[in-house]
Amino acid sequence: MEFETVIGLEVHCELATRTKIFCSCLNEFGGEPNTHCCPVCLGMPGALPVMNRAAVEMAVKAGLALNCQIAKFSKFDRKNYFYPDLPKSYQTSQYEYPICLKGHVDLDVNGEPRRIGITRIHLEEDAGKLVHGEYGGTMLDLNRGGVPLIEIVTEPDLRSAEEARVFLEKLKADLSYIEVSDCKMEQGSLRCDVNVSVRPVGQKEFGTRCELKNINSFKAVVRAIEYERDRQIDLIEDGEEIKQETRRWDDVKGVSLVMRSKEDAMDYRYFPCPDLVPIVLSDEDIERAKREMPELPDVKKARYVRELALPEYDAGVITGDKSLAAFFDRCVALFPNAKMISNWIMGDVLKKAKEYENGFDDMKLDAGAFTDMLKALDAGKISAGGAKTVLDELLTGTGKSVGQIIEEKKLAQISDTGAILKIVTEVLDANPQSVAELKAGKDKVMAFLMGQVMRASKGKANPQTVNELIRAEIKNR
Ligand SMILES: [Zn+2]
Repeated sequence: MEFETVIGLEVHCELATRTKIFCSCLNEFGGEPNTHCCPVCLGMPGALPVMNRAAVEMAVKAGLALNCQIAKFSKFDRKNYFYPDLPKSYQTSQYEYPICLKGHVDLDVNGEPRRIGITRIHLEEDAGKLVHGEYGGTMLDLNRGGVPLIEIVTEPDLRSAEEARVFLEKLKADLSYIEVSDCKMEQGSLRCDVNVSVRPVGQKEFGTRCELKNINSFKAVVRAIEYERDRQIDLIEDGEEIKQETRRWDDVKGVSLVMRSKEDAMDYRYFPCPDLVPIVLSDEDIERAKREMPELPDVKKARYVRELALPEYDAGVITGDKSLAAFFDRCVALFPNAKMISNWIMGDVLKKAKEYENGFDDMKLDAGAFTDMLKALDAGKISAGGAKTVLDELLTGTGKSVGQIIEEKKLAQISDTGAILKIVTEVLDANPQSVAELKAGKDKVMAFLMGQVMRASKGKANPQTVNELIRAEIKNR
């Protein structure tokens, strides 16, 4: 029997506000444990929360980026549960009236257009962090308690692990463009729970779903979904029933394990938060947020294709990363050969970016120096190999100019026709057999002769000039 996988995601994203959601403690990753806390975010009796306006504005922008309806009225509820990382024993969240509803994200999954529905986005506070093992037992760090979060809930519209990965990449790009989050999965500012079920192809009703928690990289999302899909299909094929349960993904072992089953699923007993007034937004508030929205990746991508004639694929890769797109924009302003810039970015630059912990962001490549290198290459002053050497040198961060590097590393190509002609003549004189073959139409010999000239010039002759001179010289023989 053929099966179809049905996936829905719940993505938690920490907002990049300066302070926490309901108090003035700093919202900062790391720091000495329990130094960014106060009676409000520790949930002391009598302490009163006050809504952070910046968090509301960011949630609205996230909603706009994901094509949501922005609710003019939303309010907070208490989600009651006990866990050591939550001293209040309730999380202040939005249940009945979330801030954003009914959006969608358009994806291109290997050339197939797909629209994924967004059910809702709600605002809530993050819990603290339990640190296991470092000092023997378990330690509690509440610096993260009260950090503003948005939870983005999708419709069960995703159909494969690959689609889920493409969705998350897109979501990450959208959210970082509007600067509401740094979206660093490894620091926990983007976290994801995955709902997975399977059903026979053609069946309308959904199968019983399982929720996977504790997934902290895009790669892990893919592995977890594929594992869970196979596990459920195996159960069905063995004639067993799938139980609705919450499972923890263990990325090291590559397995999911039961955390809790439906029978003891928590009843959160949501009730209205008596401490916070509802959020009421005016038309003007929403219009202002719309005006402040930057050019989003999809719009930028379409513009690159339309105005710069970049291939769709290149435009997609470059706009998929906010800082890469900003770098590309700076380069195009300095050197209007968009395709050449994109070729180098997609090739050498991104290949080298893999050697850095945070990829391209860590490379600190200067657009001015990078385009100086491309200009030298374009003008035939250096060879493609020489250009790679210049790029390597630029990345060492010595601050040397491209001109200095070309001089110090002796990368300047010989474009002086006289000097090259001398070498060409010598090489042709020394290889009469090849000259005869070339004259007889054996064009393969050309590569050999080119190679000889390039070697004699220590790789510095301009290949195009060499090619032209050999062809011209052959005619005279
Ligand atoms: Zn606080």
